[in-house]
Amino acid sequence: MEENHRKVIILGTGPAGYTAAIYAARANLKPMIITGPQKGGQLTTTTEIENFPGFSKGIDGNQLMNEMEQQALRFETEIVFGEVTEVDVSNRPFKVTAGNKTYTSDALIIATGASARYIGMESETRFKNRGVSACATCDGFFYKGQKVAVIGGGDSALEEAGYLTNFCEKVYLVHRRDEFRGSKAMQDRVLKNEKIEVVWDSVPEEVIGDDEKGMTDLAVKNVKTGEVKRLGTKGMFVAIGHEPNTGVFKGILDMDDKQYLVTKNGSTRTSAEGVFACGDVADSKYRQAVTAAGTGCMAAIDAERWLAEQ
Ligand SMILES: Cc1cc2nc3c(=O)[nH]c(=O)nc-3n(C[C@H](O)[C@H](O)[C@H](O)COP(=O)(O)OP(=O)(O)OC[C@H]3O[C@@H](n4cnc5c(N)ncnc54)[C@H](O)[C@@H]3O)c2cc1C
Repeated sequence: MEENHRKVIILGTGPAGYTAAIYAARANLKPMIITGPQKGGQLTTTTEIENFPGFSKGIDGNQLMNEMEQQALRFETEIVFGEVTEVDVSNRPFKVTAGNKTYTSDALIIATGASARYIGMESETRFKNRGVSACATCDGFFYKGQKVAVIGGGDSALEEAGYLTNFCEKVYLVHRRDEFRGSKAMQDRVLKNEKIEVVWDSVPEEVIGDDEKGMTDLAVKNVKTGEVKRLGTKGMFVAIGHEPNTGVFKGILDMDDKQYLVTKNGSTRTSAEGVFACGDVADSKYRQAVTAAGTGCMAAIDAERWLAEQ
C-alpha cells in the first residue's frame, strides 16, 4: 500500500462518520477518517442527549462522541486531524487534500454534516443550549408546560411550532414579515392551532437571562412600528434553516436546491461512482444523531459492496 493511499477515506467525525468508520473497519477496510474543523461534530456543542437509544438516563454530547471515537479506534480506524479543502473524484483513485497533504482512496464516504443558521445576536450566542436551540425535536421536551418562541416563517419554522404544541403551554411564532413562506397546508394547520400565536412583522431584539438561570425572557421588536415587547418565554427555537457543509463538493457532486448532496434510490450512492454520502450532509429532513448513524452504517456497507464488485 502506498503511504498516502487508503481503501476508504471518510470525511467528518460526527455520528455518521464514526459509524461508517466502525463498520468499514470491522469489514477490514482499514479506513482513514478526517476530523474536519469540529471533531465529534454538532453533538459536541450540546450537553444532554435524551433520544439516542442505549442510554436510558441520557448522555452528554461530548461523552457520546468520545465513546463513538473510542469504538472506531478499537477496530483500528486511523484518525487524521484536518479539514478537507479539495476533492477530486473525476478519476480513480480519488484525491482528497487536507492541510498540506493529499491522500488517495478507492472509495470515499462523505459525512461532513450541516450547521444550523442562527440570527447572529450576541445574547443568542450567550444562551445557546441554555434557552436557545435550533432543534425542537432535540430540545423541545425540556420545555414541557412552558411558553416558548419559534423564530422563522418557512416550512421548518411552522413544523417546529406545531411540534412544540404537543407539550408546551404556548408557542409564539415570531416572523419578520406579514405572511408566511411555508406551504398553504402547513399555514392552515398553524393558524388554526389555538396554542400558537403568530407575532407578525417582528424579529428577536434580545435574549434576556443570567448565568445562573439561563434564558428567562425574550424581547422582540416590531420592524414596522419599532415597538419592543417581551414574550415571557424561557425558550427560543431558531428555525431559519441549515447549511450543509458541501462547499468543497460544488460542481463535483449533484446537490439539491438547498445544496444538500443527492443520494440515489434509498442508498448512500452519490452522482459519482464510489462516492457515498451519509448523515446531515445528505438529509434536510430528519437531521438526528440516530439517523446520521444509521446512514453512516449504510454508507460503509454500500462502499464495502461496491469495492467488492470492482
Ligand atoms: C445544539 C444541538 C443539539 C442537538 N441535539 C440533538 C439531540 O438531542 N438528539 C439528536 O438526535 N440530534 C441532535 N442534534 C442533531 C445532531 O447533532 C445531528 O443530526 C448529527 O450530529 C448529524 O451527524 P453528522 O455525522 O451527519 O454530522 P455532524 O455532527 O454535523 O458532523 C460533521 C462532521 O464533518 C466534519 N467536516 C465538516 N466539513 C469538513 C471538511 N471540509 N472536511 C472534513 N470534515 C469536515 C466536521 O468537523 C464534523 O466532524 C443536535 C444538534 C445541535 C446543533
